[in-house]
Amino acid sequence: MKDVVYLKQVHSDNIFTYVSDKPSIKDKEGDAIITNEKKVIVGVFTADCVPIILVDEVNKVVAAIHSGWRGTFNSITFKTIAKMKKDYNCKPENIKAYIGPHIRECCYEVSEELKARFLNEKSDIDKEKLFNKNNLNLESCIISDLKKSGMLENHINALGLCTYCNKEFKLHSYRKSKGDYGRMFAFVILE
Ligand SMILES: [Zn+2]
Repeated sequence: MKDVVYLKQVHSDNIFTYVSDKPSIKDKEGDAIITNEKKVIVGVFTADCVPIILVDEVNKVVAAIHSGWRGTFNSITFKTIAKMKKDYNCKPENIKAYIGPHIRECCYEVSEELKARFLNEKSDIDKEKLFNKNNLNLESCIISDLKKSGMLENHINALGLCTYCNKEFKLHSYRKSKGDYGRMFAFVILE
């Protein structure tokens, strides 16, 4: 393994590509990394936010995305795939997605104001899928981004684990720990 690459995460939709002979991106503020470099780990830290890993096994390109409500609201997943298409000539039908543990609609209550903003911004998603009362389903937005990008439904893999209420695994949750929290690292490496 040559390097471990992650960004200073700021809930943005800034997306960086990692190229080994270019200046380091490690201190850059952003929330998604794309690379085609071999033996380099690219990853994101999460505790309630959604980690998404993308893999194009044909062009050998991978990405790691950190998508909290802001990144999700701003469709960082859609934008990351658009950059994979533009910069690496990826075909969406070759990309596979892996959605990791995050706070799910069982536990993620948001304010009326944020609910209204999401209903307005994500009006193409069924209301019943997007919200259960005031509980937001971040994954429904991300899956919508993936499908809109042209990805195949059977290439979308979701763990279905809620960081807040899962009891089977020890998962870090920002909300549950009220700020005093650890984080998980979701990463991908090309061999
Ligand atoms: Zn839950």
